Amino acid sequence: EGTGFAVERAATVMVIACPHALGLAVPLVVAVSTALAAHSGLLIRDRAAFERAKDLEAVVFDKTGTLTTGTFGVTDVLAFGGAEADVVRAAASVEAHSEHPLARAVVRSAEERGLSLLPVAGFRALPGKGVEGSIGGRRVSVVGPGYLAERGMAAGDERVGPLRRQGKTVVFLIEGDRLTGALALADIIRPESGEAIRRLKGMGIRCMMLTGDHHDVAAWVAGELGLDEFFAGVLPHEKAAKIREIRRRYRVAMVGDGINDAPALVEADLGIAIGAGTDVAVESADIVLVRSDPRDAAAIIDLAKKTYRKMVENLLWATGYNAVAIPLAAGVLFGAGIVLTPAAGAVLMSASTVIVAVNARMLRV
Ligand code: ADP
Ligand code: MG
Repeated sequence: EGTGFAVERAATVMVIACPHALGLAVPLVVAVSTALAAHSGLLIRDRAAFERAKDLEAVVFDKTGTLTTGTFGVTDVLAFGGAEADVVRAAASVEAHSEHPLARAVVRSAEERGLSLLPVAGFRALPGKGVEGSIGGRRVSVVGPGYLAERGMAAGDERVGPLRRQGKTVVFLIEGDRLTGALALADIIRPESGEAIRRLKGMGIRCMMLTGDHHDVAAWVAGELGLDEFFAGVLPHEKAAKIREIRRRYRVAMVGDGINDAPALVEADLGIAIGAGTDVAVESADIVLVRSDPRDAAAIIDLAKKTYRKMVENLLWATGYNAVAIPLAAGVLFGAGIVLTPAAGAVLMSASTVIVAVNARMLRV
């Protein structure tokens, strides 16, 4: 009689505890959140980094190609002495050898004006600064304001300032040792960027921007989007150092398209590569966003928070269930007339696992 009772209690305890909801509480949530993310075009390459995303305090966006579309168009041509067509022709001839989005726009502008390009020798790209080469034995450079300052030259034309304050990127043409012209290029802020920033700020996350562009252009974009902070004139090799510096203040994610920002993606607590991006960016990132939509950066952080909440819920539930059901199965309430048969234990056990699974399935983006 006594032995039979003991065996039955032991069997019930084993049924209740195995395969216990506790063991499935976390893996089920992991499986559901990974599938959900992939389904929404958010590819998680580093699971641990994704789980850290729930604690992020700041997100740094690259400007060109990330918050903006990166498809520039030449809007203004300034010629300092010569003809505008000659400025476009010389600039486009050198830029024709570059893959940079600014370069493509300059070349397109020359095509639209029906200008034929000149042969260029000794082409060189200066990352984050511009391009140079020689045309007819004369050194020709198309560069940003930083390089101009390095050469000890000033943008001394009163039309440049107002163009920048409209958010236009201005690049300069240097022929020999003379500044001969400038081109203003407009980029378009992605229509989704504003909402991405609003959502992140709504989660209490500081939004920042990192760019190699001029301060005034960055200020205009930051103003349009309501960014908390921005860093302009940052050279490609300085981007990772800037992230390291921000990391001392905040747990930070970096969102970039990978053109020049792969080291910064690695340096951040969470590296997010946007769009098809470059291969280096994909290799450097913890998360890859299949679409070029900055709102997906907010979505992945939101998912990380919800995933964590689900794990905690499931663990609490499964722990509570085991804490109650196991002693019950062992017969602690036998005195009060409550005994769990192995069959009832089986039902409870299944129910607890189903609850954990259903709760995991309720995860949404
Ligand atoms: P971002 O940090 O905004 O992605 P980059 O680091 O690619 O931009 O470039 C920073 C700056 O360097 C540009 O705003 C421009 O002034 C200059 N620059 C870079 N590449 C070129 C180029 N091919 N022609 C002219 N200027 C360039
Ligand atoms: Mg960029």
